[in-house]
Amino acid sequence: QEQTFVMVKPDGVRRGLIGSIVARFEQKGFALAAIELLQIDRELAEQHYGELRQKPFFGELVDYLTSGPVCAMVWQGEHAVENARALIGKTNPVEAAPGTIRGDYAMDIAGNIVHGSDSAASAAREIGLFFGKHAAA
Ligand code: ATP
Repeated sequence: QEQTFVMVKPDGVRRGLIGSIVARFEQKGFALAAIELLQIDRELAEQHYGELRQKPFFGELVDYLTSGPVCAMVWQGEHAVENARALIGKTNPVEAAPGTIRGDYAMDIAGNIVHGSDSAASAAREIGLFFGKHAAA
């Protein structure tokens, strides 16, 4: 079965939303394959968001991601990548539908609570980055 990488970002952890977010994935039917609370360093944040290195907000994004612990998770199930993206909602919380995680818990794109891999290839790369080879399918 497909795996995807999901991360509760520091604002989500600070606001006590790990439990609510985990509950949504469990209720949807995903199986939890790995979970870890960790403080990431700038190098890992920069590698994780490597595709965005040229964006004007990249420095701010790395500051945000390293501002406190994150909760890194691997969730498994049918069409895990697409199902997780649907649960999480649009990148900009202003556009995210009510009922989605960002639609229900976030106000602004610079603090959008949660990350989910955008493809199976990204998921494999991100799982490797955060969990080494152990959690890979
Ligand atoms: P994620 O990878 O976090 O799941 P995404 O794939 O939905 O998000 P991307 O376009 O890859 O969206 O952007 C990655 C992250 O960069 C966003 O989740 C957000 O935290 C941040 N970001 C994107 N656009 C902006 C912006 N204009 N200003 C500030 N931060 C932004």
